[in-house]
Amino acid sequence: MGKTIIVTGASRGIGREIAKRLAADGFSIVVNFAGNAAKAAEVVTEIESAGGTALALKADVANEKEVEQLFEQTAAQFGSDTLHAVVHSAGIMTLSKIVDGNVAEFDKIIATNLRGAFLVLGQAARHVAEGGRILALSTSVIGVALPGYGPYIASKAGVEGLVRVLANELRGRNVCVNAVAPGPIATELFLNGKTSEQIGHLAKMAPLERLGKPVDIAGVVAFLIGPDGGWINGQVVRANGGFV
Ligand code: NDP
Repeated sequence: MGKTIIVTGASRGIGREIAKRLAADGFSIVVNFAGNAAKAAEVVTEIESAGGTALALKADVANEKEVEQLFEQTAAQFGSDTLHAVVHSAGIMTLSKIVDGNVAEFDKIIATNLRGAFLVLGQAARHVAEGGRILALSTSVIGVALPGYGPYIASKAGVEGLVRVLANELRGRNVCVNAVAPGPIATELFLNGKTSEQIGHLAKMAPLERLGKPVDIAGVVAFLIGPDGGWINGQVVRANGGFV
């Protein structure tokens, strides 16, 4: 039986491109999503049309039971010892200044991004096979600490911490655990709520003077998942055109 990869948040944006790339690389893909079943079905159709194998599974990454079921359903469908990797891309971003004290926004971002990572990485640690990979998406904005990004940066700094600790906890299992930290990427998460001036300014911050595309990140992930990525462990790999 072939090797399977769970990609969380694979219905849209970066996760969607990662799912398609890893399917093209020969892996069976679990396309996780939160609510957008139609978009997830589109990804499955695209993968299958290209000759690959994929299955859409709904699970809110912040929900302990649903994350557990995501891994159980994956094992039921593809076999209990085929899980090669988990790529945790599901995430949300809203901006609010610390001075404004928007606790509801803070709690929501921490629940989805940090609690979600804790739950997904925990299940990944239990289920990924010997020689496998665990990846979580962080963000390069941690390095520039832009105003308004407090709750989001707090959540992703936590993700980077979890990744480093998990790499140590999996000593002896031959499993690599890393984070990929993109700079600004043209997806709904980045574009929503910003003026064209703000987008233009952020696009020009990197010396390569453009926004990243999901495919830029999918290539980095494919390298880390593949055989050439096997000596990278416990790292945060920034992929951002020189943004920071
Ligand atoms: P998008 O908003 O384009 O896509 C988000 C994806 O995550 C969707 O598939 C969505 O599913 C899923 N999702 C959201 N909440 C949950 C949840 N609670 N449970 C399960 N799935 C969920 O975001 P991006 O692709 O841009 O972002 C992907 C990752 O990359 C995030 O972790 C983000 O923080 C990180 N990142 C993004 C950057 C950017 O500039 N875009 C820069 C740096 C990091 P559904 O369709 O069902 O809603």
